[in-house]
Amino acid sequence: MLGQMQDWPLLVSKFLTHAETNHPKREIFSMLPEGGEFSYDNERMAKRARQCAQALGRHGVALGDRVGTLAWNTHRHVEIWFGASGMGAVTHTINPRLFPEQLIYIINHAEDKVLFLDVTFVPLIEKIADHLTTIEKYIVMVGKDHMPETSLPNAVAYEEFIGAEDGEYTWPAFDENTACALCYTSGTTGNPKGVLYSHRSNFLHTLVALAGDTLGVTAKSVILPVVPMFHANAWGIPYAAAGSGAKLVLNGPHHEPDVLHRLMMEHGITVTAAVPTVWLGMLKYLEATGKDTGKMEIVTIGGSAAPRSMIQTFQDKYGVRVNHAWGMTETSPLGSLGSENAAIQDLSDEEKLDVQCKQGRSVLGVEMVIKDDEGKILPRDGETSGRVMVRGPWVIGSYFKHAGGEILDEDNWFDTGDVACIDEHGYMQITDRAKDVIKSGGEWISSIDLENAAVSHDAILEAAVIGLPHPKWDERPLLLVILEEGKSVTFEEMNAFLTTKVAKWWLPNDMVVVEDIPHTATGKISKKDLRDRFKDYSFPDA
Ligand code: ADP
Repeated sequence: MLGQMQDWPLLVSKFLTHAETNHPKREIFSMLPEGGEFSYDNERMAKRARQCAQALGRHGVALGDRVGTLAWNTHRHVEIWFGASGMGAVTHTINPRLFPEQLIYIINHAEDKVLFLDVTFVPLIEKIADHLTTIEKYIVMVGKDHMPETSLPNAVAYEEFIGAEDGEYTWPAFDENTACALCYTSGTTGNPKGVLYSHRSNFLHTLVALAGDTLGVTAKSVILPVVPMFHANAWGIPYAAAGSGAKLVLNGPHHEPDVLHRLMMEHGITVTAAVPTVWLGMLKYLEATGKDTGKMEIVTIGGSAAPRSMIQTFQDKYGVRVNHAWGMTETSPLGSLGSENAAIQDLSDEEKLDVQCKQGRSVLGVEMVIKDDEGKILPRDGETSGRVMVRGPWVIGSYFKHAGGEILDEDNWFDTGDVACIDEHGYMQITDRAKDVIKSGGEWISSIDLENAAVSHDAILEAAVIGLPHPKWDERPLLLVILEEGKSVTFEEMNAFLTTKVAKWWLPNDMVVVEDIPHTATGKISKKDLRDRFKDYSFPDA
């Protein structure tokens, strides 16, 4: 027997309609890449999102077409998000920090039909535009007065693009399982893989993001998502703001602590979210200037482990509650979050801090287990470690165009590549990483790509790259090399060589010449042994 309630597809355009109807005058503030700032409200944002949808339609973008964005967090980016997804196209947020070859690969693989880009990225895209085979139109996210001279074919200023439309547009209804957004993960080696979110997955994810124990967003919140929109939907925050009536403050291209602090003070930010590197800079800035955090109530920290001292300083010195969150692009990204449950509320402050250093409890909608290498589910005893496996309605089923083939096990669990234990209260704690990647300031570095680049140098016999803790960037790469007999290469020469092959921020922070590199039984470099061997090592710039 079927239930007899209404069939109301879970579409992200509903967030916009909700915001416009119930919170029309709630403000959205944005810093702009072309300089200056801008502010308006939900009503005007929603109208411009509809104009954007109309303009896309007029230029031939249809249901299922991919619409690329290469942009920082701005009001225009939010409009495009809602406009493109709302009309049934797929918003493909692209990470501008990627190496040009990766950008070319991703844009062509996604078959983006149009590309919206911040004016600051025009020179970058001009250099690679000849290789972008599917883009028919470039829309530079500025008004006509800031439109640069450009060699990009079919380029138009955003304000002109949407300015020709009247905003009289009704959001179409379609199946809630329709693709809504696309985000590539550059986590492992080889080509980046696309995670294709649906309207339903993003809608359900937002409902949970808005739950009391989650991000802490309410209608009264003023929220600054420092986390970029090209990182797993900015952890769902723009949807959450529209869905709750929170005020949204967008920092554009600015991540400097003094600018973020000014925004915090001028707008009375109550909720914010970013990777630890951002907060490290902020805490240093506060310490140096003697300033405080104003009205800030909750900070969500994730993407990498939040250090104990960071959690403690935020809470004890500034009275800001820390939500330590774990997730991945493949999990939309919310997977687990460390808010207190009844079992730990009476613990001492020190004991509570121990719990907060863990990666948190699964949110409703994400099932999580740890498994051993044979696929057996391990006990939740806080000691036994295994691979973290997740499943749920906003967890990936397969990558875009089935890259990587079948990725779920026979019970539909997705292997996260993280290794962790889970305690009796459900708090998960990451103890290791099975995937061979290094996370620096919230962005991935593929150790295998770096190794391949290093061994292509003729003085190198074998190379291994491991990620080691770094006080500013969480992790940085250390390059270990075995030299070819009779040959030599200095660290500086090696980095000069690598510069031609990888992005600058991927370059190892140091190189150590070794006699041997340990291997596992299956012939892979044993990163675990190497990390053990170098556990007391510290980087020269640390
Ligand atoms: P995001 O864009 O949210 O950073 P990614 O897919 O790039 O997502 O990275 C996901 C990975 O980041 C996880 O599998 C895990 O290795 C790491 N990670 C995320 N959150 C944490 C955390 N709180 N502590 C430790 N590692 C984390």
